[in-house]
This record gives sequence, structure tokens and C-alpha cells, in this order.
Amino acid sequence: MDAHTKIYGIIGYPVRHSFSPVMHNSAFQSAKINAVYLAFEVLPENLKDALVGMKAIGIQGFNVTIPHKETCIPFLDEVYPTAKIIGAVNTVVLKEGKFIGYNTDGKGFIRALETELKIKPRGKRFFILGAGGAARAVGFNLLQEGARELALYDIVRSKAESLVIDLRLHFPNAQIELFTNLPNSPLKGFNCLINATPLGMKKEDALVIDPKVFHPKLIVCDLIYNPPQTKLLKIAQSKRLRTMNGLGMLLYQGVLSWEIWTGKKAPVSIMRKELEKAIAKK
Ligand code: NAP
Repeated sequence: MDAHTKIYGIIGYPVRHSFSPVMHNSAFQSAKINAVYLAFEVLPENLKDALVGMKAIGIQGFNVTIPHKETCIPFLDEVYPTAKIIGAVNTVVLKEGKFIGYNTDGKGFIRALETELKIKPRGKRFFILGAGGAARAVGFNLLQEGARELALYDIVRSKAESLVIDLRLHFPNAQIELFTNLPNSPLKGFNCLINATPLGMKKEDALVIDPKVFHPKLIVCDLIYNPPQTKLLKIAQSKRLRTMNGLGMLLYQGVLSWEIWTGKKAPVSIMRKELEKAIAKK
């Protein structure tokens, strides 16, 4: 590091658990870019000041995580249309003195689906559990990529309802369904089940859905990456279903952020290796 080192980072609260610094610093080192990626813990009430300060000292780009993904939007100079529609920003770049916001979470999931499971969303039917920020980004991108049907369930009915309304507004020709109860029979016709709730992060968590909804061709995805194998994925694997955890989404949202910042192709395999190592250590 010297007087020319460019600074990137992540803002969130809390943020000390983040694997992004390891992933991005390994990419900068591998590409021989004189840059560093740091974690900045920013309290919600300090968000505006933090962003003003970050711009003043020339932070070149940063990721945004909970709880700032939605609330940072009014303080950015420009927001990419997809991020505006999703209503959340996870990546910001400093360009000609302006902070420009993007959302790479949903695209990261699509890239993981295509790379790890060789599945393209076009014409497929997805069932999403949870209607928070992650479900919003994933759902929007699945429909944008031509998914044929999206069904949504959230324990808080109003959250699922409002996501269904927003998605229907932007994709009037897609089949978007609201489930007010958890299904309890096989999800016939659905290609893929996605857990976009935090249920499964803790050992003692209950199963998010009864495995009797599985059918032999169902693909089961969990957006959780720590632990790498949630109870849901373990049961799906024991039934020989194809599965994917959240590591690919985490990796590819980071890859896309890094490419926005640097304009270069990201060293994906190095970033993956470092992420896996860091998660295994936890
Ligand atoms: P969030 O905004 O809190 O949304 C989760 C939603 O699921 C909330 O509406 C929550 O309701 C609901 N929920 C909780 N338990 C449920 C249940 N049993 N059945 C149905 N819905 C339930 O969280 P998020 O930011 O969207 O993140 C969701 C998950 O995705 C987390 O595990 C997170 O770690 C993961 N994630 C992964 C990546 C990645 O890169 N792999 C990126 C983002 C997020 P309440 O608000 O009432 O709890």
C-alpha cells in the first residue's frame, strides 16, 4: 500500500462477519491492482454522513449490506434502473465524482444457477420462500431472464403481497402467484425451490418447509452460505435432488461488483477459493 492505493469497501451494521474483504482483496492482489477493500461499520443514523465522507475522501466503490441496502438510495447521485425497481442497492461506484448504485445480488444468483447447475431460468417455474431483499432481487432477475412462473410465500403475508404487486407491475405477462400458506404436497410443475429466508442459518432452526413438497426432479436452492449445507439442503441431497447453496450467489454478486469497479474480468476461481477457505474457518 502506498499513497496511490485506491480504497474500496463494504458498509453495513453489523459488518464484521462479512466475507467480502477476503474475496475482493484476493482479487485485487491477483490482478496486481493497487487497491484495498475494507469493512466499515456504519450505524443507520450515520449513513448520510458516512456517504458524504466516503465521497469526500474518494472511496472508489463499495458494497452495501443490511440495513443500508434500501436506505442508501436517496443519498446516491444515480441509481441503475434495475436497482431502482428492486428498491435496493448492493454496489456503488464512484464515477466522475458521482456515486452510482447497482444491484448485483439477483444477477449473482442467476450466474450461479447457470454456472453451477447449468440451468437457464427461461421457461422455468420457481417457488421462493421469503419476500425480503434477497427474494426481491432474485425474483426480479428470474422474471427478467424469462422465468415462466414465480410463486411466493412469506411468513409475513403483507411482504409477499407487496412483492407480488411490484413484480406484476413490471412483468404483466408473467405468471406470479401469492401463496398465503406453506404448500404441504409435492410442488408439481415447479422446477426449483429457493429458500430466501434466514431459516437454516442457526443449528437449532426449524426446517423452512416440509420435505414432502419435494418431487424427484425438484432443484433445491438455499441462499444461505454459512453453514454451507443447511438442513434443507441435507435432506434434499439425501433424496438425491440437485441442490445449490448461497456461496455461488455471494461469489458472483462480488464478481459483478468487482467488474463494475475495475472494468476488468474478475479472477473468479481465486475469489471462490478464498471465500470457501474463509467460510470453512468460521
Ligand atoms: P430479509 O430481508 O430479512 O428477508 C427474509 C424474509 O423471510 C422476511 O420477510 C422474513 O420475515 C421471512 N421469513 C422468515 N422466516 C420465514 C419462514 N419460516 N417462512 C417464510 N418466510 C420467512 O433477509 P434477506 O436479506 O432477504 O436475506 C434472506 C436470506 O438470504 C438470508 O439467509 C441471507 O443470508 C441470504 N442472502 C444470501 C445472499 C448471498 O449472496 N448468498 C445475499 C443476500 C441474502 P420476518 O421479517 O418476519 O423475519
